Amino acid sequence: MMEMKHAAEVYALTFYIHHRGDELSRQLAESFRQQAEQKGLRWCAEEPDIVVSIGGDGTLLQAFHTYFNKVDHVAFVGVHTGHLGFYADWKPHEIELLIDCMASHPKPDPHSIVEYPIVEITAESDDGSETFYALNEVTLKGIETTFVAQLNINDEKFEMFRGDGICISSPSGSTAYNKALGGAMIHPSLEAVQIAEIASINNRIYRTLGSSIVLPKHHHCDIYPEEGKRLLLSIDHIYKEYPKLRGLSVRVADVKVKFVRYRPFPFWNRVRDAFIGNESN
Ligand code: NAP
Ligand code: MN
Repeated sequence: MMEMKHAAEVYALTFYIHHRGDELSRQLAESFRQQAEQKGLRWCAEEPDIVVSIGGDGTLLQAFHTYFNKVDHVAFVGVHTGHLGFYADWKPHEIELLIDCMASHPKPDPHSIVEYPIVEITAESDDGSETFYALNEVTLKGIETTFVAQLNINDEKFEMFRGDGICISSPSGSTAYNKALGGAMIHPSLEAVQIAEIASINNRIYRTLGSSIVLPKHHHCDIYPEEGKRLLLSIDHIYKEYPKLRGLSVRVADVKVKFVRYRPFPFWNRVRDAFIGNESN
């Protein structure tokens, strides 16, 4: 009994910092590490409890992909060194407060964690099948020619799409590329994926729905592109050409991404602050 208590007392929360690489982010990362270690937190790149991202939302996307194989254990937190971000919602002058919050929660507990749904895609190609996960979104586009694909929802034909491409976003990714496509903002407590069109061709011959679609968990969408065309697949900030893609199956992933949330910052306030501004505007 005494030994267990002792073990609990010596446990130190482990952390790693992923930063954008610019001078300001690098300096802030250095100062964060020093202050955190002084307060008893332990630096650990292999199995961190918390990955601190310093930079922008794009930096957090990189951190997510670097640590995706540990997504069940790791929780993320973002400090922005530019404008306010959706994932990066701590300001540089608040790092001491953030470190204090981390030091006073030796193990991230359910009260200080929020979980957001992510997108799962399985790509079937002549070479086999591969599964990927996106925090923001997945897009599929043509290179050189118009993108043509059949979209099935729950294994039934929905439409033939012609245009630039398709964007499938998570709720927290709905404020990113999806927003530029006229998609809706989806609260991250909803387990859903949104399918938005990228410049569909609509006339008397070609017809698509024209609105974005929100699929609940356990529904899926299959995209079958026209054969023999060069295709560009994006998973968040990662782009790859997919020459022999036969089909893409898209759904809400079973696994979620964890963020440490030591204080409330409602999603709708972030949407307002990022896109509308405060009351003085
Ligand atoms: P980037 O070109 O720097 O990103 C474009 C912008 O999207 C940046 O201002 C970025 O914020 C912001 N952003 C990223 N995730 C967001 C989110 N969940 N909600 C609101 N804004 C968000 O490239 P990047 O930093 O590597 O980010 C990749 C993302 O760019 C992709 O996942 C996609 O969503 C987005 N994108 C948008 C468009 C478009 O709107 N037309 C086109 C391509 C890609 P930071 O400056 O803080 O990084
Ligand atoms: Mn960026």
